[in-house]
Amino acid sequence: MNRRRLLQAGAVIPLVPDSWRGWPRPVPAAAVGPSSRVRPGDSEWPAAADWERLNQDVGGRLIKVESPLAACIEAPESATCTQLFGAMKNPYYLGDDVGLTQTLGWVDAWTSRASVYAVAARTTEDVIAAVNFAREHHLRLVVKGGGHSYQGTSNAADSLLIWTRRMNAITVHDAFVGTGCEGQFEPQPAVTVEAGAIWGQVYDAVTTKAGRYVQGGGCLTVGVAGLILSGGFGSFSKAYGMAAASLLEAEIVTADGAVRIANACTHPDLFWAIKGGGGGSFGVVTKLTVRTHDLPDFFGAVFTTVEAASDDAYRRLIGRIIAFYGEALFNPHWGEQIAFRPGNVLDIAMVFQGLDQQQAETTWRPFFDWLAASPQDFSIESGPTVLAAPAQPFWDPQFLAQVPGLVVADDRPGAPETNVFWASNLEEAGQVLHGYQSAWLPAAFLQQARQHSLVDALFAATRHWSVSLHTNKGLAGAPADAIDAARQTAINPAVLDAFALIISAAEGPPAYPGVPGHEPDRTTARNHAEAIDKAMHEVRTLLPSSGAYLAESDFFEAAWQEAFWGPNYAKLLAVKDTYDPDDLFIVHHGAGSERWSADGFTRVGGR
Ligand SMILES: Cc1cc2nc3c(=O)[nH]c(=O)nc-3n(C[C@H](O)[C@H](O)[C@H](O)COP(=O)(O)OP(=O)(O)OC[C@H]3O[C@@H](n4cnc5c(N)ncnc54)[C@H](O)[C@@H]3O)c2cc1C
Repeated sequence: MNRRRLLQAGAVIPLVPDSWRGWPRPVPAAAVGPSSRVRPGDSEWPAAADWERLNQDVGGRLIKVESPLAACIEAPESATCTQLFGAMKNPYYLGDDVGLTQTLGWVDAWTSRASVYAVAARTTEDVIAAVNFAREHHLRLVVKGGGHSYQGTSNAADSLLIWTRRMNAITVHDAFVGTGCEGQFEPQPAVTVEAGAIWGQVYDAVTTKAGRYVQGGGCLTVGVAGLILSGGFGSFSKAYGMAAASLLEAEIVTADGAVRIANACTHPDLFWAIKGGGGGSFGVVTKLTVRTHDLPDFFGAVFTTVEAASDDAYRRLIGRIIAFYGEALFNPHWGEQIAFRPGNVLDIAMVFQGLDQQQAETTWRPFFDWLAASPQDFSIESGPTVLAAPAQPFWDPQFLAQVPGLVVADDRPGAPETNVFWASNLEEAGQVLHGYQSAWLPAAFLQQARQHSLVDALFAATRHWSVSLHTNKGLAGAPADAIDAARQTAINPAVLDAFALIISAAEGPPAYPGVPGHEPDRTTARNHAEAIDKAMHEVRTLLPSSGAYLAESDFFEAAWQEAFWGPNYAKLLAVKDTYDPDDLFIVHHGAGSERWSADGFTRVGGR
């Protein structure tokens, strides 16, 4: 086989075996496809007439992007600038601005940059036109849906953006069968969602209006496509599994401009890859169909904050809550967070499904009694609150507004009443990240003989920074069908044996380099990053591998292929090479990105 044919064959045949486990993966020197992207000012940058042709092709929906932050750099003292920094605490404002992202940056990692042009797509045809234009003109292409990437993967300077925000139609089905799957799969209840919808809109259609359950994310303003492409965990994932594992079918525009249906019967390799293989790497997903489930009778939550009077008492408190989790909460009813904070503080914000008020109270009584028996050691700073509610209105904004402090409304004049977000997500609106690390914790640590090592590590971590167990982001303890479905995705199989994802993070308020008075606080950020590093080091020394959830992980993760996808990475890369042989779709730490410079403009390795 000559060299050219060998390279072409590389587009469909993995060049490394599935069992290959060494990282970083060696990259052969030969390059294929365009070796660099074009920037404004380059002679190859499309002429005005070319852009106008694209504008015609997308029905006038090409936008010349102006970031509101650029105006702020010009006039930092202006009233407009002051208003902007206030408005950026509203996730709906951020999501509706083509030039902004939910996270404005990450100190020493990335800064949100507006694209030069954006196609505000409404149809699949708009997406095709934009993909073809970017490929033909060698442009840096980015895709943005909900804009919630912590890693900054939905923005890039000097790029063309495909913005799916306005593609948000939702159709609920009683009996869905994937294209080409007729006769092979039973029809099942499902919902088809256009790629730019956010989860709050889907819950409104599926749960509030249709009385069904759909597995999405916890945050109401996260994008549907971005979450599913990452894997996707919601508060009740311990019962219903990963959002990606519920995917039945997707419509996707690949780098060649073709529209493909991906499901278990058609393009099953692409179907597998978009289930947790990472956003912005395989094409532009335009539509997704996910299964729906019967709704349980009740959802609910348990909140309390406890402060221990001494280090010794805090160790006992950590030991008790870990043992209690293993005895009473390690099952499909329970999800969300147990946080351990400096100052010997324990914060519990757990949710449940399928239990009523009395059952939830009975479950927690032994733990609350244990606390009450030692008032000299433990003071209850807030709660305990145990609240069960009928499941159907759980995401109904009018119902949520009755609970003080639970949700915040979009405060823009004329905003739809359904535009609400959890108050607990307020800190993240417009944030600048200081640090963010995560790791999956194997369920083996819940065995009695091993609990003490976890307790020691958690205690030691809190000497540096807060760490939080997201118990709904590990699938150990979930029903067998939820685990089997997750096994059919690209995500690192470490999630199957993990009882929780441990996260340690810190952020600052909205800030932007170059805006006096609103510069990110780099000194504080670096101190926080160091503290997070130390805290997570205490936990990592226990762990057999570095598995982490790609959507909620460290920008600086060195062994990202192994961490996010484990043994699945070689297969993922092979799918990438089949459908995007020239790497039109490249994002930070996405499949194939090791072949590109950090800014995605220059090829540094071949296949
Ligand atoms: C406040 C907050 C809360 C969060 N809560 C959760 C949670 O509860 N559970 C959880 O699992 N994760 C959560 N995340 C992480 C979130 O799921 C991921 O960041 C997700 O990728 C965001 O999707 P998006 O569409 O909103 O973001 P975007 O930034 O628009 O997209 C994320 C990535 O997907 C790509 N992408 C987006 N749309 C498409 C498309 N149509 N086709 C191809 N690629 C596309 C983008 O290019 C980008 O690489 C949260 C993040 C934030 C900021």
